[in-house]
Amino acid sequence: MRPELLFPIYTPVRSLPGVGPRLSMMIEKLVGPNLVDLCFHLPNGFVDRRYSPSIVDAVPGSIATIRVKVLEHLPPKIRRLPYRVSCKDDSGVMELVFFHARKDYIEKILPVGQTRIVSGKVEHFKGNVQMSHPDHIVKASDVEDFLTVEPVYPLTAGLTAKPLTKAIKNSIKMAVPLPEWQDPAWLNKNKSPSWLEALHKVHEPENEDDLSPLAPSRKRLAFDELLADQLALSIVRRTHRRKAGRAITKHTELVEEAITSLPFRLTNSQTNSLDEILKDMAEPLRMLRLLQGDVGSGKTVVAFLAMLRAVEIGAQGALMAPTEVLARQHYKTISELAKGVGVSVCILTGRDKGKIREKLLSSIAGGEISIVIGTHALFQKDIKFNDLALAVIDEQHRFGVHQRLMLTDKGKAADMLVMTATPIPRTLMLCAYSDLDSSRLTDNPSGRKPIETRALSNSRLEEVVARLEASVHEDCKAFWVCPLVEESELIDIQAATDRYAYLNRRFPNRVGLIHGKMKGAEKDKVMSSFSSGDFDILVATTVIEVGVDIPEASIMVIEHAERFGLSQLHQLRGRVGRSKRKSSCLLLYAPPLGEIARARLNVLRETDDGFLIAEEDLKLRGAGEMLGTRQSGLPVYKVADITKHQELMMAARDDARLIIERDPTLKSERGKALRILLYLFSKDSVVQTLSSG
Ligand code: ADP
Ligand code: MG
Repeated sequence: MRPELLFPIYTPVRSLPGVGPRLSMMIEKLVGPNLVDLCFHLPNGFVDRRYSPSIVDAVPGSIATIRVKVLEHLPPKIRRLPYRVSCKDDSGVMELVFFHARKDYIEKILPVGQTRIVSGKVEHFKGNVQMSHPDHIVKASDVEDFLTVEPVYPLTAGLTAKPLTKAIKNSIKMAVPLPEWQDPAWLNKNKSPSWLEALHKVHEPENEDDLSPLAPSRKRLAFDELLADQLALSIVRRTHRRKAGRAITKHTELVEEAITSLPFRLTNSQTNSLDEILKDMAEPLRMLRLLQGDVGSGKTVVAFLAMLRAVEIGAQGALMAPTEVLARQHYKTISELAKGVGVSVCILTGRDKGKIREKLLSSIAGGEISIVIGTHALFQKDIKFNDLALAVIDEQHRFGVHQRLMLTDKGKAADMLVMTATPIPRTLMLCAYSDLDSSRLTDNPSGRKPIETRALSNSRLEEVVARLEASVHEDCKAFWVCPLVEESELIDIQAATDRYAYLNRRFPNRVGLIHGKMKGAEKDKVMSSFSSGDFDILVATTVIEVGVDIPEASIMVIEHAERFGLSQLHQLRGRVGRSKRKSSCLLLYAPPLGEIARARLNVLRETDDGFLIAEEDLKLRGAGEMLGTRQSGLPVYKVADITKHQELMMAARDDARLIIERDPTLKSERGKALRILLYLFSKDSVVQTLSSG
């Protein structure tokens, strides 16, 4: 149960005064559902309102806070002209200017003859001093109260600064002191304030230094967040490890047989990874291993062979994919391979309903089916395995630690293999995924050719189409990707639909369309007709990013490539170049290209080494690049910054390990405080495993 100390900030955003349904919806979308999320929404700038000149002294262009007396209202004679209010102080006269103003409202906030404090940008216009749309107009006798530095927060479309700032201010007020969970030595060394002091301080920046990720208060909160994260991982790891695994040692020749019947030879890194996995499975501990490798590096085959080891002892293997399309892809690959060795495979997705589903469930529970492939539907409560020994999760970073654990809970001490197509930079691997052992697929299966990559301004669209024309005649297939802007899926789909229509005019009946709003069955149909050659060009939103194996596809066009993250572009590019054919990737961008976007496109042109690209991605993110973060596989923090706080991450990891070693159930005084920290960062389910175990 969440500690009572946190109740006040674990209150819904809409409970705040002045926050109605519309505003709360926007705030929730931007930061999250509770006041605590607002507390951790940190300013990225500030406005200094401490400058308080007289009207005549006010420097044009500056932000000034001035005490004035309202003289006269001057409503516009023509509608499109502004509403003006003339004011004065001892030095002179100034006009407040409002466009599209409502008369009654202006009269209410600026009554003639009264004194008001106004704050905003001072301008000189045709010899007059004026301030248009002051940021603040307040009743006040004492100007001193308003001479402050105001935090500026990141916003989202439709949300304005004032209500958000007010909501954040009110949220912080609800926070109460919490027992100290950090090591006193660390606090001393870093001159760190307490949690509550730090929280207040980060929202009151007075200069650039205060905004730095290394400012003591920001650093303190970042370390709190990282420690919570690392602690949660350590607990998960421990809980997982403590449940004894099963040693899968006895075996027949099934794996060897399957390897021989493969239509290709395993690469060296496939062989090595498989060895590592089988060795783990033979240990009496539970395996928790990450299999990292670029798109097309052959992870699925390795996973299949590992599952066969489970099948050999009469147990089962399960593979869970993040999307339906990808689940089907895996099913296609694996059922084919399994046929060769006479192993039964089925696919189970959310789409299977009624009788069919029941039948599948009973054969899974009865053990008639050895390998089950599915989407998150595999998590559902009604799914029982006869004897699940290996759970493979094709993560692609869409699942969290908790879901990983849920699937192994379905097996008797099942081993777990997590596959990821986004190579994780070494530094991050150490901290963010330190709970996992890892195998890397570094060499690509033979036959993969380097992909010629070019970046072109979108003004050269016609050239691209002409090139496509030539290629399609040579029997090539092409992907045409339109970007996903997270704010509005509908607009994206419109863009893709328009592009589809355009290309369809150029290549009648040779173009297909697939996007995220389509039903699963529809998507499958489009994919399979693309695969079987019903058309040559597939226009897609990023749904094709994960999965989709169309070996004949050799051209990848990506529109608005500047909007994608580096890893994402790399993944998309990996969809082609899967055959003997020479492949190309055309990155269309909308000029002018920003510095970071340019650097990103250059990296892609220069290398196709996923591990290298991941390192570069991390570096470029350092320059404040946020796009594609969610898809990138990098951990998402509210306060901590993965590029600036790597040392803190390492420290948090070491601390967490030490804490769990000394006080595994968090019973000590500090342990109790750490439990509060875990709840503060919403690691509720992790704390629950502590108490139950
Ligand atoms: P990943 O899951 O890592 O994206 P897959 O396992 O789907 O990659 O493999 C991509 C393609 O390469 C598949 O068509 C697969 O059959 C093929 N493949 C896998 N391993 C090899 C290999 N050693 N040699 C040749 N082709 C391979
Ligand atoms: Mg695959």
